[in-house]
Amino acid sequence: MTPTDQPLEPEKQNRKMRSVKRLKDIMTHYYIDAKTAGQTGKQVAWITSGGPVEPLIAMDVIPVYPENHGAMIGAAKMGADLCEKAEAMGYSGDLCSYARADIACASVDGGPIGGLPRPDMLVCCNNICGTVLKWYEVQARYFKVPLFILDTPVNHTEFTAEAQAYVRAQLDEYVAFLGAHCKRPFDFDRLAEVGRLSVAGQRLWQQVLETTVHRPAPMSAFDAFFHLALIVTLRGTPIVVDYYTELLEELKTRVADGIAAVPGERHRLLWDNLPIWYRTRWLAQKFAAHAACLVADTYTSSWCGTLDYLDENDFLGSMAQAYQRVYINLGTDQMAEMVMAMLDKYSAHGMVIHSNRSCKPYSLGQYDIQRLVQERCGIPCLVIEADMTDARHFSESQIETRIDAFMEVLESSR
Ligand code: SF4
Repeated sequence: MTPTDQPLEPEKQNRKMRSVKRLKDIMTHYYIDAKTAGQTGKQVAWITSGGPVEPLIAMDVIPVYPENHGAMIGAAKMGADLCEKAEAMGYSGDLCSYARADIACASVDGGPIGGLPRPDMLVCCNNICGTVLKWYEVQARYFKVPLFILDTPVNHTEFTAEAQAYVRAQLDEYVAFLGAHCKRPFDFDRLAEVGRLSVAGQRLWQQVLETTVHRPAPMSAFDAFFHLALIVTLRGTPIVVDYYTELLEELKTRVADGIAAVPGERHRLLWDNLPIWYRTRWLAQKFAAHAACLVADTYTSSWCGTLDYLDENDFLGSMAQAYQRVYINLGTDQMAEMVMAMLDKYSAHGMVIHSNRSCKPYSLGQYDIQRLVQERCGIPCLVIEADMTDARHFSESQIETRIDAFMEVLESSR
C-alpha cells in the first residue's frame, strides 16, 4: 500500500478544525476592545443573548454578553464556586446559574477574564426568559447605569398584529434611548447596513449548521457550541460574515474529504437545551465512544431560526417579529414541531434532552416534547438532568449509566 492508500487513522479522520484558533483570536481581541473601551472613547452595553444587538453596533457601542461570560465561566469550571458566592450574598440556588455567576463576579472582578468591562448601559430583552429582568435590574442598580427593557410577549400559539405593533413601538423607544445615551442622533442608514450584515451572518451560520445533514457529519453540536460565539456577540459586523464564510469553506472541504466529527458515525442524535459547558469534552467523548454524533441542536440553531421573518431591506421594521419569534419564546406545540422538523432534516434517530435546572423556560415543556417525539416519530429520547454552569448538579455516574443504557436501546433498535 502507498501512504495514500492506507486507511486514515481515527485521529486523522477527526482532524482539528483550523477555524478554532481564528475564533479564539477574534474573541480575545473583542474582549480586549471591550475592556479598553474607556481609553478609546467607546461605550459598552451589556445585552441579553437574544436581544437586538444591531442598533448598538450601528451606534458603535460595544455589546457585551453576560451569558457568553457565563458560558466561559462554566467552561473554565468556575461556575459552582461563583454560584456559591452568589448564594452567600442571599440569592436563591434556584436562580439561573448565569445570573448567579455574573452577579457574584461583578463585585470582585472574578471569572476567567477578571470580570466583564464595566457597562455604560444595559439592554434587556425578555424573549429568552423573565429572569433577565430582575438580573439586569440588580446590575443596573449596582453599576448605576441606565437600563432599557424590550418586552416581547410569549408566542403561545400564534404571532399577532397586536404583538407586532407593541414590540415595534418599543424599538422606536430603543433607538431614542440609544440616541440619548450616545448623545447623537440615531444612525438609521448605518442600521440598514448593519441589518444586511446581520442577515448575511445568520444565513452563513445556518449554512454552517446545515453541513451536518451530510453523513458523516463534518462537525457535531459540540463544535457548534464553540463556533456559535460570533453570531451571538458580533452579529451585524463584517468579521462575522468573513469568519463564517471561512468556516463554511472548511466544513465543505471536510465533507468532500469524508472527514467525520465522529469517526465511524453510526448514530445521529439531536441535542436539546443549553450545553453543559463544564462537561462538553466528557460528553463528546462519551457519545463518540458509542459512535454517536450530535448532528444538530435546538440551541445554536436559535441564532438563525427567525431568518424567515427578517427583511434586509426593512431591517428595523422586521426586527419586531424576528426578535419575538425566537425558539425559546414559543409555545410548547410550536417548539415540538420545530424539533420534529429538525429530527427529520438531520436524519436524527435519537434525541438527548438536557433538563436544565437553571433554564426553566427552556426546560418547562421538554417532557411534553419528549412524549410527542416518541409518539409521532417513534424516536427514543434520553433525558439528562444537569445545569449548564453549576457543576454541583451534574452526577457523572448517573448520567454515564443513562447514556450507556440509551445507546443500547438505540443500537438494538437499528
Ligand atoms: S434562565 Fe435560561 S434564558 Fe434566562 S438567562 Fe438563564 S440560561 Fe439564559
